Amino acid sequence: MIFSAERFQNEIVDKVGENCFVCGAKKSNVEFTAEHIIPNWVLRKLSLHSKSITLPNGFTYRYDKYKLGCCRRCNELLGKKIEDPVRKLVSSGYEAVKQYIYEESPFIFYIWICLIFLKTHLRDTKFLFDQDRRNETQSIGDDYFWDKMHHIHCMVRTVLTGAEYDQRVLGSMYILPIDVVEDENFDFIDLNKYQTVMLRLENIAFFVVLDDAQAVRLLMTDILRKHMRNFPLQLIEARELLARMAITNHSIVKRPHFFSKIDVHNETYRVSVITPDKIECEEFDNKQFGQLFYFCCKDLLKADPTYDEELIDNVKSGRWTYLFGTRSN
Ligand SMILES: [Zn+2]
Repeated sequence: MIFSAERFQNEIVDKVGENCFVCGAKKSNVEFTAEHIIPNWVLRKLSLHSKSITLPNGFTYRYDKYKLGCCRRCNELLGKKIEDPVRKLVSSGYEAVKQYIYEESPFIFYIWICLIFLKTHLRDTKFLFDQDRRNETQSIGDDYFWDKMHHIHCMVRTVLTGAEYDQRVLGSMYILPIDVVEDENFDFIDLNKYQTVMLRLENIAFFVVLDDAQAVRLLMTDILRKHMRNFPLQLIEARELLARMAITNHSIVKRPHFFSKIDVHNETYRVSVITPDKIECEEFDNKQFGQLFYFCCKDLLKADPTYDEELIDNVKSGRWTYLFGTRSN
């Protein structure tokens, strides 16, 4: 039932395509299939099958071929316990998602984002970093911190094992309405180093910090409440929020520590967390934030009517804000 960090490394990370990424079963021992990394229902809903994702090495890869090896049993369980309920809620619209979170729990969405994040990074172990001969054996995934990913794997596996988890393991999560521009129906930005993700399906965006036990949410709530303009957010404002969540997560002084509590007698386990007494973050370097914000928004920046070299400089230096400023429209 338990998957130690070592087993996660040896049987999942080092065996992508050979073992099931969820349960670790060998391809030769089970009925083996492939799981879409961006869920198939999302590809269908937003007509993304023939479109491509841009990988961290700058290459693109078609969404319909972007898959990860998985056993039939896990594939079906993930469909039944995560994808089907998320699909139904998201298809019912933003208000239905919000109501579900208030009345039931936010965990299904958190685990759903954990699942997509986990699949993305495991798949990156099979993409070469560049085509340069000298580096031909280095994969994109070689730079990742797999020990951090172990907690995310544990969270995904709770769906299959029925293991329990503390409510405090939830990451910071905002689910917000977005002002949709025609043809721009999908956004997936994964800031791996910062364990922060934004996934947007039409006018609903999920902003999630995976590994902070809600510290970012606590640190940002006051400033967001005080300064943020009314919803829905524009796309570029959403990208800024993502960058601000990421830099805040990066600046947390004492990090939470995730672990599994094992009850040998009852053969159960529980994913748990130790959080620091005081949640605080260091003042972050504005330039570092600016670079991150620019990375997140550079494709949208050109649509700003005031777009010029000065605007780019202001964004890159961290002096610019769309989220807390005056809208130009
Ligand atoms: Zn499996």
